[in-house]
Amino acid sequence: MYDYLVVGAGIFGSVFAYEAKKRGKKVLVIDKRDHIGGNMYTKDIEGINVHMYGAHIFHTSNKTIWEYINQFTEFNNYINSPVANYKGELYNLPFNMNTFYQMWGVKTPQEAKDMIERQREKYFVERPKNLEEQAINLVGLDIYQKLIKGYTEKQWGRDCKDLPAFIIRRLPVRFTFDNNYFNDTYQGIPVGGYTPIFEKLLEGIEVKLGVDYFKEKEALDKLASKVLYTGPIDQFYQYEFGVLGYRSLRFEHEILDMENYQGNAVINYTDRETPYTRIIEHKHFEFGKQSKTVITREYPDQFSLGKEMYYPINDEANNEIYKMYKEKADSETKYLFGGRLAEYKYYDMHAVIASALSMVKKEFYEES
Ligand code: FAD
Repeated sequence: MYDYLVVGAGIFGSVFAYEAKKRGKKVLVIDKRDHIGGNMYTKDIEGINVHMYGAHIFHTSNKTIWEYINQFTEFNNYINSPVANYKGELYNLPFNMNTFYQMWGVKTPQEAKDMIERQREKYFVERPKNLEEQAINLVGLDIYQKLIKGYTEKQWGRDCKDLPAFIIRRLPVRFTFDNNYFNDTYQGIPVGGYTPIFEKLLEGIEVKLGVDYFKEKEALDKLASKVLYTGPIDQFYQYEFGVLGYRSLRFEHEILDMENYQGNAVINYTDRETPYTRIIEHKHFEFGKQSKTVITREYPDQFSLGKEMYYPINDEANNEIYKMYKEKADSETKYLFGGRLAEYKYYDMHAVIASALSMVKKEFYEES
């Protein structure tokens, strides 16, 4: 009945479905959730586009991908400039001259460099054994204690002394007064949220929501010549090599009867005691003027089967397990695998689009 069954209406599945349809293929898309868009889904609450699975800022330096996504939406000129709140003290992120002024009162790049150098030298260790030593080697004690330690420990659910040094190889510091978090050429938030992008990608394609592939795999497989699967790879193979590790997240959304709660889209809480890592105030992504506001508290959460998978824990043990699944997946002829869950990797949106487009080229024997 169909050329392709696409499991997952996230960005990987939707871009693939759109391109396949464009090439005259008949496609059925299913998703177990009750909405399209995967983790990029935005929902209109009180006239505000709420990022239901965490703040999503589109950024890329890839002109082709930027032009590709711009076919489906218009982007505004939002620049991500998060603020850190450490026990009531506010600091600009990423680490730049504003941060250094707020932390030490230094006013010139040379003063800031000297300060960081003094801090690094004092506690420098030749071979950092853990994340704490590595971070102090890179940026010194003050920045580590106020802006890195608590946030990282909450994110990973472990003490920085028990986390491997390799998690942070680099900590970018900027000696300009520039609060733009990303270094990319293109950046913004789609006007009207992300969901309309998916409505356009999936226009004219049959989509069934609330359908879990594994509840009727045999029957669904029979419907199509090929299946693109964008769900968790370990589940596809019934966890035969083990369960892959993730960190999960919990989101608490709240509507507030006030115009402006925190004055910025993203505020990180970098102390250990506050249980959430950040508060998102969604209207600021689109410069909203609504009389109410919607905020989301983001809590890191221990992962167990049944919870949402957010950040893959790409340590040696998990990567070994993934390698076994990948080998099996590579030998399949009916099934294609793509996206963050099937490839077990953290992927930014632009990279997922690039990866889906490269699968399209391969699948339809086109020159890259
Ligand atoms: P998903 O969006 O997860 O889509 C997979 C879909 O498959 C889901 O809808 C799921 O329901 C469905 N599915 C799974 N199993 C089944 C099944 N058995 N049956 C039916 N359907 C199934 N990227 C950026 O570029 N900028 C950002 O600012 C950014 N912020 C992020 C913040 C957070 C908190 C997180 C976690 C990620 C962020 N990302 C960001 C990354 C971005 O979310 C991903 O790149 C993107 O959503 C991945 O798309 P995908 O299609 O691979 O996966």
